[in-house]
Amino acid sequence: MATLRFKALGDLMEKKAPQMQWPEDRVPDFYGELTFNDEAMKKYLQTSVYKQVKAAMASGEPIDRKIADGVAAGMKAWAIDHGAVHYTHWFQPLTDGTAEKHDGFINYGPDGKVIEEFAGKHLAQQEPDASSFPNGGIRATFEARGYTAWDVSSPAFIVGSTLCIPTIFISYTGDALDYKTPLLKALHAVDKAAVDVCQYFDKNVTKVYSYLGWEQEYFLVDQGLYMARPDLMLTGRTLLGNNSAKNQQLEDHYFAQIPERVAIFMRDLEVQCQRLGIPVKTRHNEVAPNQFELAPIYEEVNLANDHNLLVMDVMKRIAKHHGFEVLLHEKPFAGVNGSGKHNNWSLGTNTGVNLFAPAKNPKGNLLFLTFLTNVMAAVYKGQDLLRSMILNSSNQHRLGANEAPPSIISIFLGTQLTAMLDSIVEKVSDAKMTPEEKTALKLGIGRLPEILVDNTDRNRTSPFAFTGDRFEFRAVGSQANCAGAMTAINAMVAEQLVEFKKNVDALIAKGVKKDEALFQEIRRLIIESSPIHFDGNGYSDEWKAEAAKRGLSNITSVPESISKMVTPHAKKVLVESGILTDRELEARAEVEYEKYVLKEQIEARVMGEIVINHIVPTALKYQNTLISNVKGMKDVFGAEADAMVENEKELIRKISEHVTIIRKETQAMIDARKAANAIDGVDAKAVAYHDNVHPHQDAIRYHVDKLELIIDNEMWPLPKYRELLFFR
Ligand code: ADP
Ligand code: MG
Repeated sequence: MATLRFKALGDLMEKKAPQMQWPEDRVPDFYGELTFNDEAMKKYLQTSVYKQVKAAMASGEPIDRKIADGVAAGMKAWAIDHGAVHYTHWFQPLTDGTAEKHDGFINYGPDGKVIEEFAGKHLAQQEPDASSFPNGGIRATFEARGYTAWDVSSPAFIVGSTLCIPTIFISYTGDALDYKTPLLKALHAVDKAAVDVCQYFDKNVTKVYSYLGWEQEYFLVDQGLYMARPDLMLTGRTLLGNNSAKNQQLEDHYFAQIPERVAIFMRDLEVQCQRLGIPVKTRHNEVAPNQFELAPIYEEVNLANDHNLLVMDVMKRIAKHHGFEVLLHEKPFAGVNGSGKHNNWSLGTNTGVNLFAPAKNPKGNLLFLTFLTNVMAAVYKGQDLLRSMILNSSNQHRLGANEAPPSIISIFLGTQLTAMLDSIVEKVSDAKMTPEEKTALKLGIGRLPEILVDNTDRNRTSPFAFTGDRFEFRAVGSQANCAGAMTAINAMVAEQLVEFKKNVDALIAKGVKKDEALFQEIRRLIIESSPIHFDGNGYSDEWKAEAAKRGLSNITSVPESISKMVTPHAKKVLVESGILTDRELEARAEVEYEKYVLKEQIEARVMGEIVINHIVPTALKYQNTLISNVKGMKDVFGAEADAMVENEKELIRKISEHVTIIRKETQAMIDARKAANAIDGVDAKAVAYHDNVHPHQDAIRYHVDKLELIIDNEMWPLPKYRELLFFR
């Protein structure tokens, strides 16, 4: 294979398509066998303990420490029966992944002999050192202790030989240091606010759940090729590389047959996920070559998010068994599609009603319209906050690129729903409605499900699309913890619903009938939030101009976006509601600035090293072969050679030009970095990296990619796009 220039690859070819041992059992037989689920709890817990745990799960309250010993005993027996020898509190620090500190079940018993120990106190709490996790200045250096505490609403599970207990992570002083703590609070806030509004319609509604169905996009790259790319290994993306002559132009990868080696990996991954009780369901090829997607059946947000984080880990591990590396970066390759993680999100009641699904009768549809318009208003007011939770150093390369949602937040509704909202604006007024008007309006609303059934127009360019019975937030990055986006959206909607109820109650107090008050408020929300509603092509330049006219923000700078985490609006949504304290929110913004600076710094360093140690020497080596060729030609042909070596001389000159610019730009990038590093204040430093360091990357890349096109293929030191994207 002439195009494969890397020995590691040859070795890996041997390992290609390992013989998979499929479980002989069928999915229902092994589904969830590695989680301490209802079935396991029934078997391993005493009945009274089981009942108390179930009650705690339903209420969201922590379990009573008195029963913790009982739970721990059952959990330990179950875990040991399933091969576990260690346990860990599994938590979500403000980094990209999850963290765990393993402790063995072993201890000395009273007689000095070794016993297997795991008590209530071990289950309920662990004390990892918090000092090595991002905390945004919350943790004073003299107090490094952090606490993790069991999140009863997410079941424990076993990975390898370790029992993992999902936990929240807080500092000694009680400040949240993770993604889970505010998420749980936001879910609680939206539950309460939504129940209060549902009470206008149905007194039986006592609980509102928030649901998430994520769609995880990823790339697979051969492990041998990956190892030969320092940029992929250290930054998760290619910092250099000329696009492959064939990439995704023919659109022949999307939904195409899954390559066999990939299919075997996917099946292995699915089995492992299903054993962990993760309901993975859908898999397919994505648009770019070697890009794929995995999606489960939706679950309650907190559990769904734990499952997504777990899947990202499991994926990376399983891929290695198959000679692949998983790329979860949002934009591993320039010029082909990046990866996102669509967040399908909805709210549903304890009575089984999906609040984003049109109902069969006018009353149900008034409920639907109430929630729909409140979401619109929340997203309109919270566009900057929402973006601040998802725009970061890696996702910046995807948002606003042509295949991904722009950095403008807008909502797609579809023609039928739009017509419905228009008619409400037209027909409802603050004046008292006549009985005929009311009947006509209700009839119109009653017809909603009929017209929506056929609503198949699915706009793929919208960052926040209504898709029939849920919203799909598509701007979330592929490697993100969904908790950021889910905390923001649920908190924003909670805040909006509280305001809505206040306004409706005020109207009712003035003597307006309940239905009419609801209609009037819905109408007001439709009008007020109309700028956020856009059904057209979100990728077009016209939309950018139009959005600017509407006053929608289009922030592409990460540091500027982060600054929107701490605006008065953000504080109203997150702090006044008690989801985060002011200090915690400020600390989070600080952590985001820090992460941005560090990631940009690493990229700049890696790029500098590759360019100076790999690219420039290769260019000079090739240039030298050209020079010897020219000299040789002159030796052989004398003056006659002048015409014959004209092209070579031109090439020699070109290489010199590229190399000169590359060296100059690399030095300028180093100088800009030094200047940025000297700046006090992490927000100003982030701005300096954005404005002064990052732009050099583009200049360097341009010239390196030009060199790739002219230098001998055999000499080029990095695997090329055609190899990374097409070898499978
Ligand atoms: P598509 O790619 O067409 O958007 P997928 O089937 O890939 O659809 O993914 C859709 C995701 O949305 C799945 O995870 C699915 O379970 C989830 N989903 C479906 N209905 C809801 C809902 N009411 N609330 C939240 N998520 C949902
Ligand atoms: Mg989707």
